[in-house]
Amino acid sequence: MRWCHGSLLHLLCCLRLRVCARRRRPGPPARLRDLWAYMRLVVRSLQYNSLTNSDVVFDSVFEPVFWTVDRITRWFGMVFVCLVVILTSSILVICYTILLPMVIRTYPTAWVAWHLVYGHWNLVMIVFHYYKATKTAPGYPPIVKNDIPFVSVCKKCIIPKPARTHHCGICNRCILKMDHHCPWLNNCVGHLNQRYFFCFCLSMALGCMYCSISGRNLFLDAYNTLETNYQTPSPPYTFRDRMVHKSIIYMWVLTSTVAVALGGLTIWHAVLISRGETSIERHTNFKETKRLAKRGKVYKNPFNYGKINNWKVFFGVQKKSHWLTRVLLPSGHTPPGDGLTWDIFPFKRDTIPV
Ligand SMILES: [Zn+2]
Ligand SMILES: [Zn+2]
Repeated sequence: MRWCHGSLLHLLCCLRLRVCARRRRPGPPARLRDLWAYMRLVVRSLQYNSLTNSDVVFDSVFEPVFWTVDRITRWFGMVFVCLVVILTSSILVICYTILLPMVIRTYPTAWVAWHLVYGHWNLVMIVFHYYKATKTAPGYPPIVKNDIPFVSVCKKCIIPKPARTHHCGICNRCILKMDHHCPWLNNCVGHLNQRYFFCFCLSMALGCMYCSISGRNLFLDAYNTLETNYQTPSPPYTFRDRMVHKSIIYMWVLTSTVAVALGGLTIWHAVLISRGETSIERHTNFKETKRLAKRGKVYKNPFNYGKINNWKVFFGVQKKSHWLTRVLLPSGHTPPGDGLTWDIFPFKRDTIPV
């Protein structure tokens, strides 16, 4: 009986402890325990993965930062596109209402004809290439089983990656011949739309330079007028005059700033195209050159076909008339090749006899 009494107490104590433990379980400590177990699992998965290297660890540690930046860039994409359209439209309104009437009033006929022809050619090039760059998909590798040669496997899409293909975190998929993700286009720049992107940058930079140079005297007049206007006690100018002066100053400052910034970017991309590199390959080729130099070897970019040939491949020039129809005029032709396989330098045969 004594034994029974003692064992019963023991049993009750055990049950009480269990009830207490059960009561404690569904609180914050349980969530913390789960979080702790998850973090341990993450750390272990990093340690036991045979493919782990410093890049994988770096990517995993900074994954939340990349995720946040990608989300913000994706969300701001449309805002940037609207900004480009609104700013360009505002400059166009000023050009048509102030700059063009002034040119027609004061310049000789030949100069008026030149401004009309050049200005409108430049405008068509900007609008066409911007529209095509934003609307054309950059090109994606196939996600079904295929026999296309590949160089690695994308860790995020879990599909084979052909040469020059890279994963874009913002688009969340692999891009053929990826150059970069452009927030101003809200699109990736890749195999199928890189020419549109470059031609847009070039024509926009030229357009801004054109407005900045053409409107220089008007800007100086407007600036001096506003300066003297603030100093004199009774302003001799009407509200309309003041708005015109401010619009000219706004146009000149905006176009000059964009001309310098975008001009620099365009020159940089022109250098990369001359070398047969994308922006991403610039970094990888630089690393590879340094790595091989330490071993006393010289790295050769396999996609560099020579300066002139690189430009011909880039613009899709296959005969002489293409320099006019495909380079100087808007053209919707697709680039040579499928973006999945690439000719390696040197060519076995001259594919571009121009
Ligand atoms: Zn991918
Ligand atoms: Zn992208």
